[in-house]
Amino acid sequence: MISRRRFLTGSIALSLSGFYTSIVSAVGRVTPWRNWSGWLLAHPRARLAPLNEGQLVDQIKGSTGAIRPVGAGHSFTPLALTDDNLVVMDKMSGIISHDKETNEATLWAGTRLADSGPMLDELDQAMFNLPDIDHQTLAGAIATSTHGTGKGLKSLSGYVTGLRLVTPSGEVLDLNKDNNSDLFNAARVSFGALGVITRIRFKNREPFRLRTQTWIEKTEDVLKKFDQSIEDHQHYEMMPLVHSDYSLVVAHTETDDALQTTVEEDYGGAFISMVAATPIMLRKTLIHTLALIQGSTEAIGESFNALTNHRHDRFNEMEYSVPLASGPDCLREILATIERESIDVAFPLEYRIVDGDDTWLSMFAGGPRVSISVHRMASKDYHPLFDWIEPIFWKYNGRPHWGKVHTLGYEQLKYLYPRYDDFITLQASLDPEGRMLNDHLKYLLGK
Ligand SMILES: Cc1cc2nc3c(=O)[nH]c(=O)nc-3n(C[C@H](O)[C@H](O)[C@H](O)COP(=O)(O)OP(=O)(O)OC[C@H]3O[C@@H](n4cnc5c(N)ncnc54)[C@H](O)[C@@H]3O)c2cc1C
Repeated sequence: MISRRRFLTGSIALSLSGFYTSIVSAVGRVTPWRNWSGWLLAHPRARLAPLNEGQLVDQIKGSTGAIRPVGAGHSFTPLALTDDNLVVMDKMSGIISHDKETNEATLWAGTRLADSGPMLDELDQAMFNLPDIDHQTLAGAIATSTHGTGKGLKSLSGYVTGLRLVTPSGEVLDLNKDNNSDLFNAARVSFGALGVITRIRFKNREPFRLRTQTWIEKTEDVLKKFDQSIEDHQHYEMMPLVHSDYSLVVAHTETDDALQTTVEEDYGGAFISMVAATPIMLRKTLIHTLALIQGSTEAIGESFNALTNHRHDRFNEMEYSVPLASGPDCLREILATIERESIDVAFPLEYRIVDGDDTWLSMFAGGPRVSISVHRMASKDYHPLFDWIEPIFWKYNGRPHWGKVHTLGYEQLKYLYPRYDDFITLQASLDPEGRMLNDHLKYLLGK
């Protein structure tokens, strides 16, 4: 049986163990920084790791040059890249306060999602939804509108009810829908361009348990039933298997049944290796045969365990969100292009649904969308694949995930977000010297 986790943890081993070791450069002690996939490298001349807001304010005021906050480095785009001041929020982690009546909790911005699940559970709270891994920090996750899947379920930034922002001038601002609501809606998804977020209040719900089922089904059949399936399952996604007519389906349904774990075997890794080793012409037949002999899997877990996975092998990813109605055609065109161009990729796609929100720069601003992802193992150059696929997303009015590979800059982005220019005006007013900007952010904001 193939589980989703194993599907995405393919077996192409990468030797990245040296990436996080310290290196002493010839010009002094500089600890390089790399992102999760290993494709982005920087040599920050200072690492600011504040213990509290007071210290952060002092560090910002006492520093010169650019300031880039970083979370867990899980973005594929150079949002956090800097050779100046990297602000690491790891020491500002944990729960600050909670409200039993409203089911809200305020956490430090550097808290990892993986830590927040059990901590919230102790307070009788749980996040409504989660992305498919939980290594990200809360601030890093909301900064790019990180999301999971499910009808009526928003990206994480859509559940933020308040936050504290330290601006580049060292001002400390408490923002919520009643207090400076424009800045609040801009700051919820702001990829660290407005300042450093130190604490975040989330609207949560009571803890819940999910039954997770995975199976393989014909992609066209899954698409046909998609609208009903997202009604039937709280969280639902499909992972189309390229060079085939099949998809892996992952469905989570709320349950009160007892916890139930399954022993995971590494079929997925073996599967991807097997597919990768098979000539492209024969892959369809191979996957068809495998689909016929595979069964389904089932497990029951607490929501924060059930929704998240471990990724052992590194990859790069491109993801765009397209309007709901365009999802199926966009997906079909991607699959057809990969097949027509005989692109040698074995990694499944990902097709998810996310509800709309009122955050200015959320990919889901203004209404629900379907997000579609394409992956490439980090050992391979992603350009040949992504260069083919990205124009397809543009054709369907796609918005790029801020944290995933894309090539769009201000000239295109201003048409995708009604409040884009307002965001830029706000950014300039908070940061007239452009201290929060690196080259990538300047490109995004047209500076
Ligand atoms: C294996 C893997 C799986 C993923 N799965 C999903 C998924 O299921 N769904 C999804 O939507 N995305 C997913 N992503 C993308 C990931 O969730 C986002 O890129 C996210 O932003 C990474 O969070 P981070 O903590 O690593 O932040 P980083 O990547 O370090 O930073 C992201 C942004 O946040 C800003 N930032 C960080 N901390 C602060 C702060 N305190 N104040 C202000 N700005 C700050 C940074 O400046 C940067 O602009 C995945 C990525 C990987 C590698």
